Amino acid sequence: MPAALLNPVLDLLTLRATVTAAEPVTARMRRLRVEGDALAGLEVRPGQQVRVLVGGLTLRTYSVWHYDPSGAVELRVLDHSEGGPGARWGKSVGVGDQVRLRKPEGTFTLRSDATHHVFVGEETASVAFGAMLAALPEDARISGCVETEAPDDRLPLPHADRLNWLTRGATSLPDAVQRLAPEPGGIAYVAGEARTVQQVRQILVREAGWDRRSVLTKPFWAPGKRGLE
Ligand SMILES: Cc1cc2nc3c(=O)[nH]c(=O)nc-3n(C[C@H](O)[C@H](O)[C@H](O)COP(=O)(O)OP(=O)(O)OC[C@H]3O[C@@H](n4cnc5c(N)ncnc54)[C@H](O)[C@@H]3O)c2cc1C
Repeated sequence: MPAALLNPVLDLLTLRATVTAAEPVTARMRRLRVEGDALAGLEVRPGQQVRVLVGGLTLRTYSVWHYDPSGAVELRVLDHSEGGPGARWGKSVGVGDQVRLRKPEGTFTLRSDATHHVFVGEETASVAFGAMLAALPEDARISGCVETEAPDDRLPLPHADRLNWLTRGATSLPDAVQRLAPEPGGIAYVAGEARTVQQVRQILVREAGWDRRSVLTKPFWAPGKRGLE
């Protein structure tokens, strides 16, 4: 479709913004700040995500690490080993580049009234966890397991000292959760690679006695699948 026809359609479906910061924050993750008048005054709940046009008409999904109601969204994009349009965009986009994204959405969000919050996931999930943890008070009961490829892939999460950090290949996430055996009664947030998410959910429900409605799951990616959402 010619740009003259496409742009008005995209203007209806997406918000326009400009990249105002792009820099590494971990070994394989980049901080991207996107700003624009269209991003001001949105309703964003901790844990929600945006879908970004990462090239042509290709959409990829990224959690909102931080939202500034004056009109700025902070993302953290992983340069994962398989590559893909999202990873390529994340590592090449620069300050001044134009971006189109959809409004924040999603139900994988903080349940702030829970008595205990358990976070389980890997690098990509830790972005959503960062937003959720930032919204929890100092005296909140927090535990969980976060796995990364290497220690220098760890995002600086609020309350990070309450989480068990794992390096891939040593202990698996399901094993670590089995060992943690969090007491039921709170809310568990489980995200990241699809099969691991299912395994962790089974451990919490079948072995640790959690009510399945208290285990919020969100597969973020799956080997061999492109743009899971
Ligand atoms: C709700 C939600 C929130 C998300 N938040 C974030 C976020 O904040 N930051 C972030 O970096 N990602 C996040 N993701 C994951 C991101 O959308 C996917 O990793 C996406 O597939 C990347 O697009 P791509 O074009 O690089 O790869 P794709 O073209 O989608 O996939 C190509 C291949 O790469 C492999 N692959 C894809 N993702 C990964 C990965 N993460 N690790 C290892 N291998 C992978 C798979 O084998 C896949 O077949 C989120 C996903 C969802 C659903």
